[in-house]
Amino acid sequence: MALTSKSALVTGSTSGIGLAYARALAKEGANVLINGFGDAAAIESERARIESEFGVRAIYSPADMSNPREIAGMVEIAETTFGSVDILINNAGIQHVAPVQDFPDEKWDQILAINLSAAFHAIKAVIPGMKRRGWGRIVSTASAHSLVASPFKSAYVSAKHGLVGLTKTVALEVATDKITVNCISPGYVWTPLVEKQIPDTMKARGMSKDQVINDVMLTAQPTKEFVTVEQVAALAVFLCSDAASQITGANLSIDGGWTAA
Ligand code: NAD
Repeated sequence: MALTSKSALVTGSTSGIGLAYARALAKEGANVLINGFGDAAAIESERARIESEFGVRAIYSPADMSNPREIAGMVEIAETTFGSVDILINNAGIQHVAPVQDFPDEKWDQILAINLSAAFHAIKAVIPGMKRRGWGRIVSTASAHSLVASPFKSAYVSAKHGLVGLTKTVALEVATDKITVNCISPGYVWTPLVEKQIPDTMKARGMSKDQVINDVMLTAQPTKEFVTVEQVAALAVFLCSDAASQITGANLSIDGGWTAA
């Protein structure tokens, strides 16, 4: 229970990787604010489950990460409720796939806002408190696409590359304040979102489940295995530990060898 007495804010944590971060940090004793969209009853049941399973406080904020005012408001609520935000995990993210000449302007703006600018606004809001208390951990979910590109993902790849630049810059600014700032860059992670795409792809391409997984989804991932949300969350927990206090400004890959190729 290394994080007892700490409080964490995890954006985009109503499902997938974000929910795994929130649960892993709560397991270590941290209070957590979860955020994101989805079915209200399902979110409430996840929130209550975190409290009952791990004996911490868990609150929910529906703040929209494309809205800077709502981001600042969410940080304020977490600080008021818990007394601090010691750990910030920037995780909310969306994707849109289209050739650059057809890429809708509003999708570009939305992806840049949620996947990149939201991290800037949240970091800006939590840094003063972290500096005052002399401790902080900021972790952002980037992606293998923060290191390499794929066609038709201009906004996503730009935002994720930008997130790494933001991370390095802030890491230098707060280097002597005992605040570390890092990115985690997963390859293909097994989330409900990914799982749901399999039947449709099987039908569309006339492929078996194994063919879809190996020849479509995991073509770029040398291990031919998905990363799990628990593995990504475990890396974030490590980054929050004292053992990781000298890791800052880094972009840590967890991608089955994707970006080694
Ligand atoms: P997901 O769709 O399961 O989760 C995304 C979360 O963000 C959800 O909780 C959703 O409600 C929330 N969200 C979306 N728009 C929001 C907004 N405007 N305001 C607040 N919350 C919002 O996806 P995931 O796969 O768990 O992805 C999480 C992060 O990991 C993203 O940043 C994604 O780019 C990154 N990532 C995912 C993979 C993968 O293979 N799944 C790989 C690399 C990086």
